[in-house]
Amino acid sequence: MQMTPCGARDEIDRLQSLLPDLPQEVFYKEDLLRTGVAFSDDALRVASQFKPKAYFIFSFDLTPISEMKRQENLRAPEEILLENGPQRFRPTVVSVRLNPASPYQVAIHDGKMQLFLAGESICDVRLQPVPEYYKRMLGNGKPVTDIAPTIEWGYLLYLTVFRQCQYFGAKEECQFCDINENYRQQKISGRSYTSIKSVAEILDALTIIDETDSASRAYTITGGSVTSKLRGKTESDFYVQYAKAIERKFPDRWISKVVVQALSKDEVKKFKDVGVQIYHPNYEVWDRRLFSIICAGKDRYVGRDEWIRRILDAAEIFGPTHVIPNFVAGIEMAKPYGFRKVGDAIASTIEGLEFFMSRGICPRFTTWCPEPLSVLGRNQEGAPLEYHVRLLQAYRDAHRKYKLPIPPGYGDAGIGHAVFSVSSFMDVL
Ligand code: SF4
Repeated sequence: MQMTPCGARDEIDRLQSLLPDLPQEVFYKEDLLRTGVAFSDDALRVASQFKPKAYFIFSFDLTPISEMKRQENLRAPEEILLENGPQRFRPTVVSVRLNPASPYQVAIHDGKMQLFLAGESICDVRLQPVPEYYKRMLGNGKPVTDIAPTIEWGYLLYLTVFRQCQYFGAKEECQFCDINENYRQQKISGRSYTSIKSVAEILDALTIIDETDSASRAYTITGGSVTSKLRGKTESDFYVQYAKAIERKFPDRWISKVVVQALSKDEVKKFKDVGVQIYHPNYEVWDRRLFSIICAGKDRYVGRDEWIRRILDAAEIFGPTHVIPNFVAGIEMAKPYGFRKVGDAIASTIEGLEFFMSRGICPRFTTWCPEPLSVLGRNQEGAPLEYHVRLLQAYRDAHRKYKLPIPPGYGDAGIGHAVFSVSSFMDVL
């Protein structure tokens, strides 16, 4: 059942009183991430002068571009920063997930951009200015926004070098993921959106960024899975060529990270050998049954037990603190296969957190929003807010229990300081 806008505020109040030790800002951040945000005409007009949403890998929207009547896909900002307001919010960066039907709206009131929930002002909204490198083109005429966009308020260069995935179709693609459909809709919309970026393009873009920017601190090389070969190369050989070229041209200029599948020890070692510091073999969902359904391609080609074993193997190569598997927070409650009760879903995920954290490996989250072009994104609302905030509490407590360091490569931690925008896990540490 769709929660009424008033119900959304009541639910936040209820959860804040249940979990008073969580920062108040993360209740709104998680709610914005799971339900998306709308923009008024005025806010959209102003926002179009700021750093725009670059569609760095997936759509992360709750509506397809074909249904965006005001070209929100071209005018909305990458992120909004929540601050001030009646509750005196500390600066909190939130990724923008477009949903014209959301109870949350960014609008201009009294000359200020503000976030409203059901018409009630929640806080002020700040936008990131357009960085100099976003105004530049590569030698081949492509915009830097296509080849090397940044997220996390400019901290992270997001290098999706392969914008599609060889897990293809409803039986293989991860059921929450719209990478292939998003690629199609971006091409139809006319955006410059390169399927396979060349090493030369990446170096060209990074040269511009190196000359003009001092905010970026890390880069991520990623893209879809390669199940056979891509341009004659295996997955590890395809992705490692970018890291090798970057580290050769810009040694230690940025913290280097790769997000690829859980690969064999020999393949993982190739990344370490060229200077990659952090490895993200994303396991997505902990429960065995759900992994086989939701990550069917990964389950068939690699298998859950092997995936987990390879994560542990990678910890021997990179060191446990530098292996950071992602978990899609909330997907374990997706209908029709997921847990029905919040408590059961949390218990399952805690089991996974305990498994990894007790071995010194600290997972992280991306908050799930149902993308309508993904298999599980149609006709459902996603996990309830209660799930997301209780998960944050469980994560923070497990992180403390095992006395783990702050995960590297995400910038500062703590409310008011964190810039990680697609989950609040860094805000609560
Ligand atoms: S492996 Fe899964 S999550 Fe990753 S791009 Fe392919 S379908 Fe998407």
